[in-house]
Amino acid sequence: MKLLVTGGAGFLGSHLCERLLEIGHEVICVDNYYTGSNKNVDHLKSNSNFEIIRHDVTFPLYLEVDGIFNLACPASPVHYQKDPVQTLKTNVHGAINMLGLAKRTKARFLQASTSEIYGDPEISPQVEDYWGNVNPIGIRSCYDEGKRAAETLTFDYHRQYGVDIRVARIFNTYGPRMAINDGRVVSNFIVQALKNEPITIYGDGNQTRSFCYVDDLIEGLIKLFFTEQIHEPVNLGNPQPINMSILAREIVKIVGSSSAIEMKPLPQDDPKQREPDISKARKLLGWNPSIDRSVGLEKTIEYFKAQIQ
Ligand code: NAD
Ligand code: UDP
Repeated sequence: MKLLVTGGAGFLGSHLCERLLEIGHEVICVDNYYTGSNKNVDHLKSNSNFEIIRHDVTFPLYLEVDGIFNLACPASPVHYQKDPVQTLKTNVHGAINMLGLAKRTKARFLQASTSEIYGDPEISPQVEDYWGNVNPIGIRSCYDEGKRAAETLTFDYHRQYGVDIRVARIFNTYGPRMAINDGRVVSNFIVQALKNEPITIYGDGNQTRSFCYVDDLIEGLIKLFFTEQIHEPVNLGNPQPINMSILAREIVKIVGSSSAIEMKPLPQDDPKQREPDISKARKLLGWNPSIDRSVGLEKTIEYFKAQIQ
């Protein structure tokens, strides 16, 4: 198939392009390099089935494709809050443009949604039926509400125009090719530990997240895309919550770092807990993440070591 990956030069997008090429597809990577990097896809450029287009998805795009993975959007709070209006445009105008492309070409369309659509959840683990607890006017809203609107558009294009949709609700994912300055917790802690700089824990460190290694997540995205008739949101993540203080200690220990811990204020609306219920993905896709955090962290630390040297 000829597949378009928007945000293809980003962390997840570059792994997705690589895997789709490996299993025999043609891939067009579209990116405006806001948080992504040409370097992430450098090794794919010699593959004749791979093509890159510099383009901002908030503007229309005319291509002929069989499938679209819509990943374009900064994912780190630091970056999506830097230009919140552009974040909302990327989510809403970007989704409209890419869904319009899917409608015209009759391409299957996968939206990279997020656990953030659950906001600061009052139930745990989060099941797909939960509607969430989201602040519509806070500093995270450009992302949370943008992603919620993108889901709405995805389902409306399905109901109104029959577009063949998939919606992946991705929970915190980490691994090689996160940017050094990404600002998300795993990359921050690893870079700080490698440099023996203070590890910055926001708030009291008791907030939880569940971290999925990138290879597991990419397998889940591909299974979701290629499985027939899944016109409902599916959570993808590793259901093993850990709090930020313990995560900091784990990383310091693996790195063998002398970093101290520095407590910083908790950002506004930072969710207290997050844990995916992945029963649906297990049942419909036969998908189950298999890479332990200790193994995933080792691989990620190796990557950052090479970047920093
Ligand atoms: P990332 O920031 O590394 O990648 C996003 C990519 O989108 C970058 O290459 C960026 O340059 C590109 N981009 C941003 N705005 C664009 C625009 N207007 N036009 C074209 N390209 C644009 O982040 P990531 O972690 O790889 O996330 C990829 C997708 O997965 C995002 O949609 C994100 O919301 C979603 N997601 C990721 C996670 C995670 O933990 N990694 C969790 C939930 C959801
Ligand atoms: N966090 C932290 N120190 C950092 C970066 C993040 O303690 O240097 C915390 C952040 O406040 C949040 C959690 O780690 O509670 C996960 O943050 P991240 O930005 O990775 O993703 P989120 O799940 O909040 O979107």
